[in-house]
Amino acid sequence: MAPTFVLATQNTHKLGEIRAILAETGWLLLGQDDVVPGLAVEETGTTFAENAALKAEAVMHATGLPTLADDSGLVVEVLDGAPGVHSARYAAQGNHRANLDLLLRNLRVRTGGDFTDVKARFVCVVALAEPGKAVQYFEGSCEGRIIATPAGTGGFGYDPVFVPSGENRTLAELGDSRKNELSHRGKAFREVVRALFGRT
Ligand code: IMP
Repeated sequence: MAPTFVLATQNTHKLGEIRAILAETGWLLLGQDDVVPGLAVEETGTTFAENAALKAEAVMHATGLPTLADDSGLVVEVLDGAPGVHSARYAAQGNHRANLDLLLRNLRVRTGGDFTDVKARFVCVVALAEPGKAVQYFEGSCEGRIIATPAGTGGFGYDPVFVPSGENRTLAELGDSRKNELSHRGKAFREVVRALFGRT
């Protein structure tokens, strides 16, 4: 039987990305809402790794199934690493558009409106929680820069203002498969595949 994992996220866009990244493994990938609908895990950690582990362990304990959780976010150098682990709830409203607007407002203040070289990176830590085993961690990051005007309709979150290094379009313009090749999440989950593929 194919290995079965729960993907611990309630973000449907993220779930779609992770399923696409893991498509070729043949693993059975259950969404969190398929197995424990309504379970919300508070992200009280101060690092991506702590929050990923909190989510993976909560869902693993509720289901008894091996569970993969990613915690991810945007780290902007000139903002001293913000929004970082607070990326999902940066603005009080906590939705993607409000978060992005607040990021641009804060950057305008900090840079005086000069967006020629606003260095940033996306970071993703994946935690794997399995019954009776220590949590395992996998990491990926994607370097790039922030632009002043959102562009593109793909992806989610801060994608419309993030241009990966070596590209001249945002993650929201590049399309799903190119995003998965370049992204922090793609890299971290490919590490998961390297470590786990082929085991029974
Ligand atoms: P998490 O669900 O707690 O890991 O929060 C991740 C947050 O970081 C999201 O809500 C987005 O704001 C941001 N983020 C993470 N990955 C991406 C991405 O691939 N594109 C754009 N924003 C992202």
